[in-house]
Amino acid sequence: MENILVLTHVDESGVLSRASLESVAAGVELSSALSAKLSIGVVAVDAAAVAAQLAGLNACVLAATSPELAEPRFSSDAAACEALCRTAAPSIVLAPGSSRFTRVLPAVAHRLGGVTDTHITLLTGGAQAEATRWFYRQRVEAVITRTARPWFLLLDAGTRTAYAGSGAAPTVEAVALTLPALRTKVLGIKAPKQDEQTIRPDAKLLFVAGAGWTKKQADGQVHATDAEALILGFLRNADASLGSSKSLVDQSGENQSVLNFMTHLNQIGQTGSTPRHAKGLSTCCHGEEPHVVGWRFVNERRAINLDANCGWARGKADVVYIADAFAVMERVNALLAEKK
Ligand SMILES: Cc1cc2nc3c(=O)[nH]c(=O)nc-3n(C[C@H](O)[C@H](O)[C@H](O)COP(=O)(O)OP(=O)(O)OC[C@H]3O[C@@H](n4cnc5c(N)ncnc54)[C@H](O)[C@@H]3O)c2cc1C
Repeated sequence: MENILVLTHVDESGVLSRASLESVAAGVELSSALSAKLSIGVVAVDAAAVAAQLAGLNACVLAATSPELAEPRFSSDAAACEALCRTAAPSIVLAPGSSRFTRVLPAVAHRLGGVTDTHITLLTGGAQAEATRWFYRQRVEAVITRTARPWFLLLDAGTRTAYAGSGAAPTVEAVALTLPALRTKVLGIKAPKQDEQTIRPDAKLLFVAGAGWTKKQADGQVHATDAEALILGFLRNADASLGSSKSLVDQSGENQSVLNFMTHLNQIGQTGSTPRHAKGLSTCCHGEEPHVVGWRFVNERRAINLDANCGWARGKADVVYIADAFAVMERVNALLAEKK
């Protein structure tokens, strides 16, 4: 018989994270489908504060607590997860695929002689446990079974409803936790302000910058600084999300002029992302097929290119402006600024 342990952790406000509660819900479903024993492991400063979130749960609740667990840190989180696993002796461990647990769980699995699978979107039981995940950028869906145990499964967030129990809070059993010498001290969190985030999945408009922004222009010069100002100005004014062609993000490795706010995370296309936006505006990007396949969920497409023979002009965009993107975006920014 399987023995399932769900590992959970608190978020910045000291309560169990939403992804943790989704994992608890997954644990309840899977244990019922497999007729397996269920335990919940809590990694927290104070487990009493989170017990109410597990109300009504028919499971053994174990907690590894310490003031050092207020902040994510590999050594303390790994020690806490290991202590919970050694106490519960599970054959299957479910955990949220949060940044906190993703960096810790494979190491914990290794310490316990187990195996790990990540990005699990669905769990099913019956004769045996089966885990589903996608490969190759959501093109191939695989159903995984394993005989190796303990089997650690990191679950993708947003793939199931979070556990919301009612009734009496469960009794929490404290697990002995010995932390190793902690070399990393968390002094605080420095995160970019929301408006400095260039990837905005909820934006109506996707603005794509191509390599042309950093190429020599009509005057024989590169104008990367002007390009940065124009692009950032537009993103701010239009609340757009920023995408890039592969050529542009690859330039940083080739010591060419780069746009400093652009990373590989911005890349759209066959080897990049496939975001969903109502509209898209491509600038200084040729519109080659490996790039344009990343636009398949962008409904209305426009492009600005100097080249009347670019890929966008060959049926890949609804409207193509044959123009200098520097001049067009300067004018567009001025119009948007007037409107604000
Ligand atoms: C296996 C494979 C996978 C790939 N995956 C991806 C992927 O995921 N995403 C991706 O983007 N690419 C991908 N590529 C690369 C892709 O084929 C193209 O090489 C790349 O998209 C070209 O980028 P670009 O259009 O920005 O640059 P370029 O081809 O250099 O085009 C620059 C454009 O800027 C225009 N321009 C220059 N100055 C101006 C100006 N002032 N105003 C207006 N226009 C101007 C030029 O006319 C030109 O059309 C892949 C290729 C392969 C082989």
